Amino acid sequence: MTSAAPHGHPVYRDMPTTIFEKMSARARETGAINLGQGFPDSQGPEDVLRVAADALLTKSNQYPPMAGLAELREAVAAHYARHQGLDLMPQEVIVTSGATEAIAASLLALVRPGDEVLVLAPLYDAYLPLIERAGGVARVLRLTPPDWRISGEALEAASSENTRLLLMNNPVNPTGIALRTEELALLAEFCVARDLIAICDEVWEHIIFDGAAHKPLIAFPGMRERTVKIGSAGKIFSVTGWKVGWMGAAAPIATLLARAHQFITFTTPPNLQWAVAGGLAKPESWFADMRAAYQASRDRLTAGLRAAGYAVNASAATWFVTIDLTASGIAMDDVTFCARIIDEAGVAAIPISAFYPKEPVTHLVRLCFSKADEVLDQAVIRLAAFRASLA
Ligand code: GLN
Repeated sequence: MTSAAPHGHPVYRDMPTTIFEKMSARARETGAINLGQGFPDSQGPEDVLRVAADALLTKSNQYPPMAGLAELREAVAAHYARHQGLDLMPQEVIVTSGATEAIAASLLALVRPGDEVLVLAPLYDAYLPLIERAGGVARVLRLTPPDWRISGEALEAASSENTRLLLMNNPVNPTGIALRTEELALLAEFCVARDLIAICDEVWEHIIFDGAAHKPLIAFPGMRERTVKIGSAGKIFSVTGWKVGWMGAAAPIATLLARAHQFITFTTPPNLQWAVAGGLAKPESWFADMRAAYQASRDRLTAGLRAAGYAVNASAATWFVTIDLTASGIAMDDVTFCARIIDEAGVAAIPISAFYPKEPVTHLVRLCFSKADEVLDQAVIRLAAFRASLA
């Protein structure tokens, strides 16, 4: 008798639902304050939403060009020229349905069977299944707190002559760090020396604090021809449900990326593309105000948690801070702590161990601060009571 078991791909058969969905579902069930999955609780900028609403009613709702509306491709190129001094051409930009699609399309387009892809842990949980499903083999460089430092020796040790690609995230989810200039230079030199293509998930490029400027890897010597730069409107405009992203790369690579994209989602809703094109042209002051508002939320949650007896790591970028359980004097691993605070305090968070394929760091917990002040304050009150209950 043949088995009725599903014939699923081994990559997915034993895989749990992603931690973000799991924690959000638990928060919905229990009514917990959701500081787990990274999303703002605001509506997004009214003028950008208005363009999307108007475009839905007044412009075409049929397939836009496969690589994206010309206006959005131009807006992305102009945005990066203005904000990061890049020389990407509109033809080198492909619009995708979110950055996750851009990562998937990049891997499907560029990984040949058996190619090794170097990744840095902690890493976003989609990376490994996407690499493996694209026929690649992930080589994981495990980084550790408190510095998360990348060294040349570690890069050498984590790679081999079969390594063809680097897939990386900067600024980094979940640690909230921005890679240092010397580390980026090291990565660039490594890619050039080994003839690697770098796929750079830079969705947090605008959510960077304390006056720091984002440094895209594509701008480092030798990287222009070998980098895929990925961005996301969901993060820039606080509209994570829109799933509008893009990937930019030198023309020979961009051609391959478009071929992969055409058989994944093919296009992205045109009204949202119109709105994002307009948003990217906003004046610098808008981006500065957006960053300042999130920085104030970061500071509010950090100060509240510290006053409540938690050791909180400084966050330089992203919507996340991390609590250090060991330094807080809490003898629990991250998974246990997250399970207990959702049940006992009514707050959802994300264990950092979910970002390690093996040998996880287990004493850090990620909290999302892109929320209204009242929500952050309420979460702090609840976590303070929980902390006190342990003493
Ligand atoms: N990027 C979001 C986070 O890190 C999660 C997105 C998702 O759930 N797919 O929280």
